[in-house]
Amino acid sequence: MVSHLPGHRNGSLNIGLMGGTFDPIHMGHLVTAEEARQQFDLNYVIFVPAGIPPHKNNVTISLPEHRYLMTTLAVMSNPAFVVSRFEIAQNEHTYTIDTVRHFAKSQNPEPNIYFITGADAILEIFTWKDYEELLRLSTFIAVTRPGYSLELFYETLERNCPQMKQKVHLLEIPALAVSSTFIRERVTLGKTIKYLTPEPVEQYIKKMELYRVKG
Ligand code: NAP
Repeated sequence: MVSHLPGHRNGSLNIGLMGGTFDPIHMGHLVTAEEARQQFDLNYVIFVPAGIPPHKNNVTISLPEHRYLMTTLAVMSNPAFVVSRFEIAQNEHTYTIDTVRHFAKSQNPEPNIYFITGADAILEIFTWKDYEELLRLSTFIAVTRPGYSLELFYETLERNCPQMKQKVHLLEIPALAVSSTFIRERVTLGKTIKYLTPEPVEQYIKKMELYRVKG
């Protein structure tokens, strides 16, 4: 849990919460967080590896501890990046509203919260727990890969959650051509993942024998 942010004394903060499964974290996530930090003037980006995501009951996901450790290894060199155990420390399903509430109350005065995650996940937000409160508490940064249809994004948003339009910013990240699925598949096939994820993460995957068998 992040209660004291490194180097922060006082004054109001802009905090980015980088939500994702991070199985594994890769260069696309890191470029995304750094771009969001600069564009939105964020003091910190807190990576929050998801605990047991409510929508992934039937999907095999690496143990939370593996995903937490890989994320920690990946952000070591950036003083503005922090990793939180808030979601993985819970044994039950974790909901973004609880995470955002937690970080909103973690500083005095309350920080401005920016929740950063994939655009496809954000399009489902109207199905998330207490989403109306979530829209009040946070601004959203919806991250897309090259080739993603922005028109379709706005159409879907308009249809399902029109009140969200004011609170969502789209961020296209060319480096997100890399995906966690792509990395897992390459490991399963015995292909190199060098330069797709930071070297310590690559070593960790090798040492712990992650993704050897198709998940
Ligand atoms: P996902 O379905 O695994 O990912 C959807 C797409 O977004 C994938 O292409 C993924 O690429 C990309 N993505 C995920 N996180 C990203 C990030 N931080 N930056 C850039 N791209 C990202 O989504 P998820 O990881 O399970 O969920 C995303 C977030 O939404 C999590 O924090 C989760 O807890 C939250 N969520 C909350 C609720 C709820 O509160 N009810 C429900 C669903 C999701 P990669 O595979 O390459 O990352």
